[in-house]
Amino acid sequence: MRLIQILAVGIALAFCAGVTLAAPQGRAAPSKTRWMVRLSPTKIVNGEPVLLEVTPPAALQSLTGTWLGHELLFDRAEGKGWFVLAGVSLETKRGSYPIKLEGVTANGGRIQFAQDVAVSTEKYPTVQLKVSKAFTAPDPEQQAKIKADQEVKHQAFSQVSPEREWAGAFAPPVTAAVSDVFGTRRVFNGATKSVHQGLDYRVPPSTPVSAVNRGTVILARPLYFEGNCVVLDHGRGLLSLYLHLSELKVKEGERVERGTEIGLSGATGRATGPHLHLAVRWQGVYLNPAALLRLRPPETAAKSARR
Ligand SMILES: [Zn+2]
Repeated sequence: MRLIQILAVGIALAFCAGVTLAAPQGRAAPSKTRWMVRLSPTKIVNGEPVLLEVTPPAALQSLTGTWLGHELLFDRAEGKGWFVLAGVSLETKRGSYPIKLEGVTANGGRIQFAQDVAVSTEKYPTVQLKVSKAFTAPDPEQQAKIKADQEVKHQAFSQVSPEREWAGAFAPPVTAAVSDVFGTRRVFNGATKSVHQGLDYRVPPSTPVSAVNRGTVILARPLYFEGNCVVLDHGRGLLSLYLHLSELKVKEGERVERGTEIGLSGATGRATGPHLHLAVRWQGVYLNPAALLRLRPPETAAKSARR
């Protein structure tokens, strides 16, 4: 039975490029049962998060997948639907990248789906900026602090809570105009180059900054470049970062809800003036926060039990 099932899946994958149907338990799938896979946004570009909403052809116990080298662990939505948040790194080249899904049916059978997804390249701007030389040519003491910070960040970023804590739409951390977008190629003092891996809001100092979604504070402390910095872990490898704060209002280990005040805005660290830098990291890659705020994930309860 198992062999027949694998063969049936193999044949389905081989003959139905694009939208693939696979029959549960090796039986031929009725023609009206199809995988429905919806990607938001519809135009996928490098540097952006992607919401996948899937209605499989059969009721499932679980749904997993892979895309661009990342593991996808789906959550149940309304009815037969499933969803997951994924993303495309800034470094991803224009091309076609297959999404592969595998579902486990109620009786333990496996059904699969594969589809190529086109990724386009976004044109990101370049800007020249001036900052204190302490940030482009740090002295040995400052270099030691930068190195120590890297270890702190590495520790924080390597934690991945397996359960999803975030739920529903993401809320902006402040109500303010955007002063710099994600992906800008920046040249500091005519030499030091970096890519802006976040979204800047033009806010006066001491403006309350709130959590974009439910999560756990995994870092709340001053860092050299980031200034007073808060990192929230929303589960499943999704983090949000709030930089250059004048004051921290949360402690490491604390749980927050969407809208919880986590600090006050400022200009600490490598900042050209008062602003809030919001960054979003998913499974090790920085994604465009503005695109995350535009997504409309299903409003389901978080999977994790509240401790
Ligand atoms: Zn910024």
